Amino acid sequence: MTRPPSRIRVLVVEDSAFNRRALTEMLASAPDIEVVAKATDGDEGLRLALTHQPDAITLDLGLPGLDGFTFLRLLMAKAPTPVVVVSAYSRKEDVFQALDLGAVDFIAKPTRRISRDFLAIREELIAKVRNLRSARKGAHYDDIDVPAASVHTPRKLRIAVIGASTGGPPAIEHLVRALPPQLPLGIAIVQHMPAQFTRTFAERLARGARYEVVEARDGDFLGTGKVLIAPGGHHLTLVESESRVRAVVTRRDTEKYVPSIDRLFDSAASLAARFEVAGVVLTGMGDDGKEGVKRLSSAGAMTIAESEESAVIFGMPHEAIRTGAVRQVLPLRGIAMALARFGRGTDKVP
Ligand code: CA
Repeated sequence: MTRPPSRIRVLVVEDSAFNRRALTEMLASAPDIEVVAKATDGDEGLRLALTHQPDAITLDLGLPGLDGFTFLRLLMAKAPTPVVVVSAYSRKEDVFQALDLGAVDFIAKPTRRISRDFLAIREELIAKVRNLRSARKGAHYDDIDVPAASVHTPRKLRIAVIGASTGGPPAIEHLVRALPPQLPLGIAIVQHMPAQFTRTFAERLARGARYEVVEARDGDFLGTGKVLIAPGGHHLTLVESESRVRAVVTRRDTEKYVPSIDRLFDSAASLAARFEVAGVVLTGMGDDGKEGVKRLSSAGAMTIAESEESAVIFGMPHEAIRTGAVRQVLPLRGIAMALARFGRGTDKVP
């Protein structure tokens, strides 16, 4: 006789009584999830986290007492626990700071207190809490120091395409920040994320990077020193146009993953005959990028997946590796080094 898997024990930290009740009801409606405790401020949240040792925490960032950021710092130091941030749309920037402090994922709160809006996030919330089971506890990215280029760099544009899902934003931040300037490298990134957050993400990346980072618009050129972020709710693909590389941004609502890593990688594979191309699959749940790495590898591009050592969720990289089409499996630090070598042209692409 097989034992049923134990339920996911969740702590809800939320000061609004309405939201607390709504979150609890939504979570409790899933047969495999149990709300073991509820906290109305950060201090109580931390105390309950230490006493109950839940499998997962939902965290509102705007809290009386200990604020959400301090809560995360102390939690990750004392009892690393996977956290999904429940955020207001008005606090987009805070979400990325929370992710950098060790939160695994986030969900945007409905803007109005109407039960139908809350029902709409029920499935998303439950799916994200379930994903936390696969998250590595206390996963955290350190700053990466890539030595500055001192060797010959090729002048022709080299293209790196990067895909990430859960756990991706801080990984991408550390990766892009680490890349030395003056490489003839253009980067296109798909990070699975709700539509209204990708611009804030691009702006945050732009502040810390030595590259020009923008949320991609249809027709943008991908040049040296440029990073294009796929806008949420849209696909980003690359095409060659008069020996330059141009972004095509299209709206699609019906597919499983929007934006799609497979689509971006597919388009990059068709550029591989004319440009040097590298594809990178970072942390995430699911299998987006799996088909894309096969296409890239067949086209002769370099393919890299994040190793279990650094991935917050070793789901997507694992699926990519299982195809046999990934040539290098590296922790994030190693990926930064490999991309710098690729940009310098000192990494032979067979
Ligand atoms: Ca609040």
